[in-house]
Amino acid sequence: MKILIVEDEAEIREFVLNQLTIAGFECDCVGFAEEALVALVRQRYDLMLLDRRLPDGDGVTAIGKFRALQPTLRILVVTASDELQSKVAGLDAGADDYLTKPFAPEELLARVRARLREFRGEPLPPIKVGALTYDPATTEVSIAGRPLILHRREFSLLEALVRHVNQVAPRKSVMLEVYGEDDAVSPGALDTLVSRLRRRLEEAQAGASIHLVRGRGYLLTEAAC
Ligand code: CA
Repeated sequence: MKILIVEDEAEIREFVLNQLTIAGFECDCVGFAEEALVALVRQRYDLMLLDRRLPDGDGVTAIGKFRALQPTLRILVVTASDELQSKVAGLDAGADDYLTKPFAPEELLARVRARLREFRGEPLPPIKVGALTYDPATTEVSIAGRPLILHRREFSLLEALVRHVNQVAPRKSVMLEVYGEDDAVSPGALDTLVSRLRRRLEEAQAGASIHLVRGRGYLLTEAAC
């Protein structure tokens, strides 16, 4: 089980890291919401401990982006105040639970274990677009029941788009997901890859189309008849 700790205060981060490591969890730590996004692109996590007050803003405002990258991620928001309003805002934004500072090690572990148990019991349903099906549990893509074989980058691109189905997938996050932080990638590389994936989907009669939304990103929808 992998946990991403998003916390800028060194003392709290060390405390949480120690407790979770002793309990047998594998953890990575970051101090900014932006760094958490990069970590999610690189690595799959089961749970995120998310501090609300981060140097680059309120952690809960980034929950949508975190989930877009990893829909199965459980998010436990750590809030400094005991205010009901703060908890409600976190849960409304899509967090699975909250933890109020200061917390005892037992409370931290109990909450983390409870959220991970839920996760194992509830596989996410497959996502369907036209005749195309993407199964988040197995990451398999099929068209009308037949597996679709794609090159690695075509597959990363399709994954990035299918998780945003019927919404615009921002160009920046798609770039990050497909190419990582490789600065040597030319800006036109993604457009070329999109054209290739479009052709693959057409040939396979996927019934799904990729649209360019100028200045924003790409949109995957069911193909118009
Ligand atoms: Ca903080």
